Amino acid sequence: MKNHYGEGGLQVPDPSAQADSLKIMWIKKFLDENNHAKWKFVVQNKLLIGGNLSIFECKLSKREVECKFPDKFWREIYLAWQTMVEEEDKTDGLVLYESLWHNRYLNLDDMVGIPKKKLQNSGVLRINDIYDRNAGRLMPPDQLTEKYGIGNFLLWHRILKVIPKEWRQILREKRPRVREVRPEIYVTLQETIKVAKWAYSVLMKSNKLSCPRKAQTKWEQELQGVQSSWPSVFKILYKSTQDFKLKWLQLRILHRILPTNRVLNWMKIKESSMCDRCFEPNEDIYHVFWGCKDAKRFWMRLKHTLVLPKHFTPEDIFLGNVTGKGKWTAAPLRVCVLLGKQFIWQCRWSGEEQSVQRFSLYLAKYISVEKCIVARRGGRKRFDETFGLLWEALCTSST
Ligand SMILES: [Zn+2]
Repeated sequence: MKNHYGEGGLQVPDPSAQADSLKIMWIKKFLDENNHAKWKFVVQNKLLIGGNLSIFECKLSKREVECKFPDKFWREIYLAWQTMVEEEDKTDGLVLYESLWHNRYLNLDDMVGIPKKKLQNSGVLRINDIYDRNAGRLMPPDQLTEKYGIGNFLLWHRILKVIPKEWRQILREKRPRVREVRPEIYVTLQETIKVAKWAYSVLMKSNKLSCPRKAQTKWEQELQGVQSSWPSVFKILYKSTQDFKLKWLQLRILHRILPTNRVLNWMKIKESSMCDRCFEPNEDIYHVFWGCKDAKRFWMRLKHTLVLPKHFTPEDIFLGNVTGKGKWTAAPLRVCVLLGKQFIWQCRWSGEEQSVQRFSLYLAKYISVEKCIVARRGGRKRFDETFGLLWEALCTSST
């Protein structure tokens, strides 16, 4: 539902992402040097590690999040921010910005005998602070003792030991350059005026439900040799019609969430998964719209009755990605397929006959309603493009 149209969603606003995006504004206020609000002095102790390193740049472990933020307000802000950070920049250079403190990938904070405050006050905050750019490696203990005037071989050796192997490898092999600026996401946070809007878009990226891969794979298996790409299938759906009911039906078909007898039986709502029309043992979506003999007959006769330029294939019917032919552009054919499916689905529930004659009446009624809407609201061009040829075909077939 929350996904973009092209990914099969409905772009429905996500209230939890909206709430989180509003929380991000507090981080901007906190990091803004020109903001001298009094509350900042109250929370500074808690949120600032040392120098310009704030807690928001650290990757706290779950336990630390609980300890560091006993109050729910800042805890939620921190968690929302971490989701955003993880979604953003993942370049090798960022290893240099990894915090040495409160980082769940290191266990420095738990080590006894590390003069944490002293080191932090001396500026030992990030990997970058113990990295020798010229040599492309972490500084050896002697160099660190000399540089910071604190500790001894043993202390620095212990600190260096906690740096994960993969980070060392990146530092050694890729020799990332120190950036003059902070990671992109911090820069954007500081520069963006509409913080909540930006944060929402980033959060939605991370929040993205996986594309309905399972349903897609099933369709690919059933409609062997599918030619259409899935993003275009979803986009076509929204382009083909303005009618929400038609869109909703097609969306449920693509996601395979229509309550067919097979589903109802699986949900223990119906005793049998048998088709009520032809008594085939398994009534699934494919069966309803194509596999059932009534449905197949409907599509076959539809071509002759309306003198359509071609037969609809199962791929045309299920994915709706119909191409035009001759004077028939894609628009009327696509809407015809959508309405055909709606008609079959309605007949399935009402138990009425799925005949093309009844569909012609149904189509005529639908187009007449559309005509009335156009007369009131305008949009004649779109109407003619979509329904012009269908109306003509209906008139010819009835005469
Ligand atoms: Zn059947």
